Order: sequence, then structure tokens, then C-alpha cells
Amino acid sequence: MQLTGSNKHPIIPYGRQCIDEEDIQAVVDVLRSDGLTTGPKVPEFEEAVADYVGAKYAVAVSSGTAALHAAMCAIGISSGDEVILPPMTFAATANCIVFQGGTPIFSDIDPDKLLLDPALIENKITSKTKAIIAVDYAGQPCDYDALRKITEKYGIYLVADACHSLGAMYKDKMVGSIADLTIFSFHPVKHITTGEGGMVITDKDELDLRLRLFRNHGITTDFKQREKQKTWFYEMQELGYNYRISDFQCALGLSQLKKLPMFLEKRRRIASQYDSAFASVPAIQPLSVQEHVVHAYHLYVIKLDLKVLGYSRNYLYHQLRNNNIGANVHYIPVHLHPYYQEHFGTNSNLCPVAEEAYNKILSIPIYPGMTDKDIQKVIYQINGK
Ligand SMILES: *Cc1c(COP(=O)(O)O)cnc(C)c1O
Repeated sequence: MQLTGSNKHPIIPYGRQCIDEEDIQAVVDVLRSDGLTTGPKVPEFEEAVADYVGAKYAVAVSSGTAALHAAMCAIGISSGDEVILPPMTFAATANCIVFQGGTPIFSDIDPDKLLLDPALIENKITSKTKAIIAVDYAGQPCDYDALRKITEKYGIYLVADACHSLGAMYKDKMVGSIADLTIFSFHPVKHITTGEGGMVITDKDELDLRLRLFRNHGITTDFKQREKQKTWFYEMQELGYNYRISDFQCALGLSQLKKLPMFLEKRRRIASQYDSAFASVPAIQPLSVQEHVVHAYHLYVIKLDLKVLGYSRNYLYHQLRNNNIGANVHYIPVHLHPYYQEHFGTNSNLCPVAEEAYNKILSIPIYPGMTDKDIQKVIYQINGK
């Protein structure tokens, strides 16, 4: 198989899609068929992902953000409700709570893995808390046993933003089969892509039903079902959106899914090359990985010891950029964004661990199409400085 490497792309980005001729043909085949929007490929893709992660239901939608929004609606988040989440994530993890009128409650992370610190969560729980959204940052599953203990104790939902962790495992369980609802994204930098796209996974019948209503305007039957039943009649039972994904996107997703094991293997191999290259470099600390997890390595994040390094993270970032290496920073803690400061009063010092980590982290390139030469160049540019 031809991997699209960086030779055509002067910049080695932090992540990019990997598309081959088989993927292209799968999309073209749907374009030549009758259905462009919801057709046979949508349920086929849903079933394939549900099978892969070992869950009962999967609902495909137009983006990971739409999937998060649908998840918040399905568990009934509304005005006055609180949802706990880590600040070290993409803004959409918090935004989905706000879409539903809820309040995001930021709970700090641990300094080594940058995952939600279960020990800090109970302090944040009030009578208004409805759910925890765990984020499998960089592709490492959170401590789900500890999180489940808390959600069971307080009778609240456990939601996994697993946009980084498709294919990861926690104690022999696939991510997707652990939380009440799990969210995946199929944006081009993620493990598999549909262009834009996302999915919500659940084992619960009633949640599956609400997710399906939500992605189609809150209407009880879709056009295909009405045709089959020879009726024009439909009812809108709830307020929903058009968050549908198209058939040719799902054809791409199905084709990509076949290559996911290979993509994961490639990501893990790159990560282990980085691990060895930085093991003896005191200024560079890879994030720590728990023993009982299988990491999916959406990102490879290094933490810099700025005193040992002798220069700033931003200096290294620009040095790498000047050498055509597209390093990146994931993430500015969400509570520090002006929107959250202004509307939710989330000032600095709210999550000191995340705020300190933010100044030291750098995501370096990792994606299946990276060549050995690309990997060596990244290592040389970081260690050679
Ligand atoms: C990518 C991502 C999202 C949003 O996914 P989109 O498909 O881009 O809408 C949400 N949360 C996390 C952690 C992500 O990495």
C-alpha cells in the first residue's frame, strides 16, 4: 500500500490523514450511486465501528463536535446542570455543555499523564452535577475504574471524549465499551477520517434512540423509513439538528477502518522510536503511560524541563517550524480562553497543574505516513538543539 508520506509535503505536520487508492475508489463508488446523504454506508459504518469497539450501538454524525452535542442532549443536560471535565482538551469538549445551557466545571489533571485526576473530582461535585466527561488525552485512556466509582457513587453519567483514543484499551477493554457514551471524531488528523465526521457509541437503548432523533431534527422517522411505509407522515418530537453524515463519507470511513490496526501499529512504532530517542535527554520528558493501558497515540506530547533546556518552549517551537517541522501545542487550557473567562469567570489558578503543563508541552509529528527519514529529522532537530 502506498502511504502518502511527507515527500510531497515540505512541512512535516503534527498529524495528517493517510488516504490510498482504495479509499478514493470507495468514495467514487458512492458518488456514482443513487444516495449521497443517508444511504446503506451509514449503518454499515456504524455497525463496523460498534463491532470494533465491542459496543451495541453507534450513531454517526457530521463531526466530533456534533457527537459531543448529541451526547449532552441524550443525557438530558439543560440549564442549571453541571458537567465536570478536564481543562486540557479541545474547546468543543466544554462547548457541548454550553450548547445545552449547562455549566462546564473544570477539574484539574495529573502532571505526568495530563489526564483528569480522579482524586480531585469529588470536590467539584454538587447537587447539580449530571456527568463527567473524561478526555483520553493524546490517546491514553483515563483511569476509568476510579472514574466509574465516582459516577456510580453519585448516580451521574460517565461520558468519554475519545476523539484521541480510537483503538486504545483500558485493562483489556476497548475504549468505546467502557463509558455510558463514547465520542469519536473522524477529522483528518484523527486515527481514521471521513473528512468531517464523528460518532457516539453506547450500549443503552434509550440513549441510542435519543441520539438518532437529535441528529435528524428530532423527527421520529427518516425519509427512507417513510418511503418504505408509503407515508408522508412524520412528527417532530424534540428539538433536533441536521447533524447527519453523508454516505460517501461513511464509505471512506469503512475503507479507513480496515486500515486502523495498521495505522495504530505505525503510531505505536513511531512513539517507541521517540521514547528511546528522548530517554537519555534530561530536558525532554515524554508523558508517562500507565501499565494497564494500550495507548492509541493520537498525539506524541513532550514536556520540557525549561531550566535544563535553557530556552523557552516557544523558542523550540519556532526553531522546529523554521526547519519545516509542524510542532503544535495541545492545548491552551479551555478555562483560560476569553469566552470562558468572560462568561463563566474561570480565571487562572483554577487548574494550576494544567496551567503549568501548558507552558511546557509540545506535540511533535506522529501519523501513519511518516517515513523513517521524517522521524529521524524530528529527533535530530529536537535533540540537536
Ligand atoms: C477533534 C476533537 C474534538 C472535535 O472533533 P471535530 O470532529 O473536529 O468536531 C473534540 N474533542 C477532542 C478532544 C478532539 O481532539
